[in-house]
Formats: sequence, structure tokens, C-alpha cells
Amino acid sequence: MLEKPIQSVEDYKQSLRNRKLKVYFFGELVKNIVDHPVIAPSINAVSKTYELAFEDEELATAYSSISDKKINRFLHVAEKPEDLVFQNKMQRRLGQLTGTCFQRCVGMDAINSLHSITYEIDEKYGTNYHKNFLSFLKMAQELNIVIGGAMTDPKGDRSKKPFEQEDPDLHVHVVDRDEKGVFISGAKAHQTGCLNSHWLLVMPNGSLTEQDKDFAFSGAVPVDDPNITYIYGRQSNDLRHLDGSEIDTGNFSYSGQEALIVFDRVFVPCERVFLDGQYEFAGTLVERFTNYHRRSYVCKSGLGDVLIGATATAADYNGVPNASHIKDKLVEMTHLNETIYGTGISSSNQAYRLKSGAWMCDDVLANVCKQHVTRFPYEMGRLAQDIAGGLMVTLPSEKDFNHDVAGPLLEKYFKGRKGVPVKHRARIFRLIENMTLGRNAVAYLTESMHGAGSPQAQRIVLFRKMDIAYKKLLSQNLAGIPIDRKELVKFPEYYKRVFNKSMRDEK
Ligand SMILES: Cc1cc2nc3c(=O)[nH]c(=O)nc-3n(C[C@H](O)[C@H](O)[C@H](O)COP(=O)(O)OP(=O)(O)OC[C@H]3O[C@@H](n4cnc5c(N)ncnc54)[C@H](O)[C@@H]3O)c2cc1C
Repeated sequence: MLEKPIQSVEDYKQSLRNRKLKVYFFGELVKNIVDHPVIAPSINAVSKTYELAFEDEELATAYSSISDKKINRFLHVAEKPEDLVFQNKMQRRLGQLTGTCFQRCVGMDAINSLHSITYEIDEKYGTNYHKNFLSFLKMAQELNIVIGGAMTDPKGDRSKKPFEQEDPDLHVHVVDRDEKGVFISGAKAHQTGCLNSHWLLVMPNGSLTEQDKDFAFSGAVPVDDPNITYIYGRQSNDLRHLDGSEIDTGNFSYSGQEALIVFDRVFVPCERVFLDGQYEFAGTLVERFTNYHRRSYVCKSGLGDVLIGATATAADYNGVPNASHIKDKLVEMTHLNETIYGTGISSSNQAYRLKSGAWMCDDVLANVCKQHVTRFPYEMGRLAQDIAGGLMVTLPSEKDFNHDVAGPLLEKYFKGRKGVPVKHRARIFRLIENMTLGRNAVAYLTESMHGAGSPQAQRIVLFRKMDIAYKKLLSQNLAGIPIDRKELVKFPEYYKRVFNKSMRDEK
């Protein structure tokens, strides 16, 4: 483990070297992840989170009362509503700077939810989880490391609870224990930011029953534990990073990363355990995590800013920036993008305080934000492809542009507006391709669909929280239908939070 805090991007990259990770990619064990051309862009994206904290302290750092120092905002537990608001501002900025998933929100949202859950389990059972958690977090803040949040199990048959699965390893679970700690086996799927993290926070994947007790586990595991195997996910067009062509990648510097993480009797010492068997808290942990995480998806408005910019540039290079339908489509993209941002940041603004002292964002608005995210980037991608034209998918390779015979032909026939170098046109088309059907479409589109839960998961929360009975009363009251007026003044919990500021401190 690290001996001194990470103080530069170089320190960060260095901290990832010489770890003995078992990583499979393309049927081979990868010895050096840091310099692997396909993996390196995902490490660059996390590096940007360090860079921003060094360059813009107000945006990307915060004072933590846990370690009594200024820390990277990704390691901060929200101590006031503004902390949540600033998370969102930072997320949009990082989306703008990388055009992809910078992979640290999941860890940030995990530490925020574990802060309150461990506190509440201790309150009920007299356990030591909150103390364990604070000591882990203090270490992380002091060393300035990266934490990944691992929630999604492979799940097997989705209609069955973990204990009902034929193979129990389809959900991470405790397989053995001794007086010093527990042993866990199973796997986590789709894990963003794992190889480029230092620790993983393992959490259960959904609400659990008493029979699922062994699956009710949360704890911190070092990424380089010898009993972990990683199988790296491939992304569309990822091999373009291997063929030495910068233009063809669309975004040469940045990408996300996902892997399947397999735990084979990984030992977790007692002091790194944050939940062990208290199954009734699993659902609340997942709910709090997803609340935070669903409004964290404002990051996609940062990617949206890039796509809008690329689309406007493409129109400009094509010679049609002033066509009325182009301007209208850019306005539509902006409207969709700001709707994502508006709902996410409103959720943070409507935060309320939990018993542990951590602040929780508004759940309805967080779910509305994420529901928008499952749709609007796809529509924005459609508009971007409309405006770019077909060349974004039929463009020859950079090697052809550089070829003696083919190159001049491409220069002649792929000219757009006078004065625009053809290669600039190619670059902007490739960026749009990258974000809407290439490597970073993973981050901009499919992660927007499924990350923090598939669309139906948000609709289930909205159905539970939409207070339809109260809304019926409102309408019946105005329509002159006799109602019990006492019911009308009994504000449901959600409206108390929305309308009454003094409720903010209540919980
Ligand atoms: C790019 C990317 C990055 C991610 N990063 C992370 C990460 O860092 N950490 C993490 O923990 N997770 C991560 N995830 C996982 C994400 O949370 C899951 O993809 C999501 O919860 C959906 O799970 P699934 O992919 O297994 O899909 P499934 O659960 O198989 O869902 C597929 C469809 O089946 C439906 N469905 C599923 N179960 C049921 C049921 N019981 N009844 C009815 N319908 C059902 C869903 O609504 C959906 O429409 C990431 C996902 C992606 C795509």
C-alpha cells in the first residue's frame, strides 16, 4: 500500500505500477496496465480528477471534518447541501474535459451512503461498523487514493433472490469466517474504475431477506488482493487505440473502463467490514447509493456540452451553421442537456440531513434526473448524427489520409467549407462517432441507460413516491368534491422536504 499521499498525476500513475493484478484482456494476462494502449485512456480520465483538484480547489476539493484537512471532493462525505451541489458542478466540468466516464462518482456515492448506513446499523445493534468505516475513509482521504464502488452482482436468474440461485456465487457472499474477519466469494459485474482504483467498496445489490443473510455484506477490499481476478470488458472500436492512428479513435486521450471482478475467498479483516448479516439494511443502502448516484449522472451534461460543441463545429465545417433547422436542433440539444443538469442539481439543492450528519439529495428529483439520462443522450446522439452527415461513419482511416495516392483524393473530395482543413473535419466526425457509437458511447449512451439502475428501476421509485393520493385530494378540493380537509393539510413527507426549509435538519 502507499506510504505517502498522492500529490500529483505522476504519483497517481506511479501508484498503479508494480501491483500484481491478475487482469485478463483479449485472452491474455496483462502485465502492465498503466501503459497498455487500450487501458491507458481510462487511467488518463481518472488522472483528470486529480488534475482538477490541483487546479481548481473550490470546485474539486472540500474540507473534511473526518481528517481535518482539505481533500479531493471525490473522497468527501457531504457535510452540507452545498457539498452535493459542488459535486454536480465538478461532475459536469469533468465530463466536459474528458468526454467520457471519469469513473470516480461510484466510489464517492458509495462512501456517502455507507457513512449513514453504518451509523444506523451501529445504533440498532451496537456494532462497530461506523468506526471501521471512518477509519478506512480517513486513511483514504489522507493518502488521497481512488475508491471504486462495487454493487452490481452478475445476478443469474433475475426473478430469483440470491439464496434461490443455483450457484450462490452469482452474488458476492460470505463463505467462511474466523475471529479475524470474513472470506468472500462471488463476482461484481460491469465495474467502472477498478484497475485504476486502489480500494473497492463491496456492497450488496438489492433488498435481502433473512435467508440471504450471507449476501448482506459490505466491506473494503484492496484492488491488488491476490485472490481477485479481473476480466476486462472490451468496448466498441477499442482496438483503434492499438493501430497507432490518433484521428480514428475520435478521443485518443480518454475513455472509461469496465471489468468483471471475481472474488475467490478474499479475506476481509473485521476492521474493514461495514455490514455483515444485517440483511434488513441492504435495501436502504442500495436506495441511498442509487439516490446519490442517479443525480451524479449530471456528469452526462458535461459530455453533452462536448457533443453539442462537436455538432455545431460539424455544421460549421459543412458550411451550414446558419440554416434555421440546424440552429433549432442545437437549441433542442441544449434544452435536453440542461434538463438533465437542472433536475440533478435541484436534487442536490433539496438535500436533507441524515442522522450520521451526512446530507442526502432529494430522491424524486434524483430519479427524474436519471430517467432523463436514460433517454436524452440518445436523442442528442440522433441529432448530432443528423447534422454531421454520413461521413462520420463512412470516413476512411487516417492511414488513407496519409497515403500518397489515396490521401490527395480524400483531400479533394472531402472538402467542406473553404478554409477548413479536411483533417479537422475528419477529427470532429470521429469524435461524434466516438461518443454516439464508438468507444465513449459506452459512457455516453449505454452507461446512461443502465448505470445506477436500468430505466424501470427509477420508475419503480417514482411510482412509490409520486403521492398520487395527495394529488387526487388537491384536484378534488378545487373541483368542489367533498374531501376530508384534515388530509389536505397533512403534507406527505416529500412535500415537507420540498416546501418547508425547516424540515431540512429534521432527520
Ligand atoms: C458502462 C456501465 C458501467 C457500470 N458501472 C458500474 C459500477 O461501477 N459499479 C456497479 O456496481 N455497477 C455498475 N454498472 C452496473 C449497472 O448498475 C447495471 O448495469 C444495472 O443495474 C442493470 O443491471 P444489468 O446490467 O445486470 O441488467 P439486467 O438486470 O439484466 O437488466 C436488463 C433488463 O431486465 C430488466 N429486469 C432485470 N431484473 C428484472 C426483474 N426482476 N423483473 C423485471 N425486469 C427485470 C431491467 O429492468 C432491464 O430492462 C455499470 C453498468 C454499465 C453498463
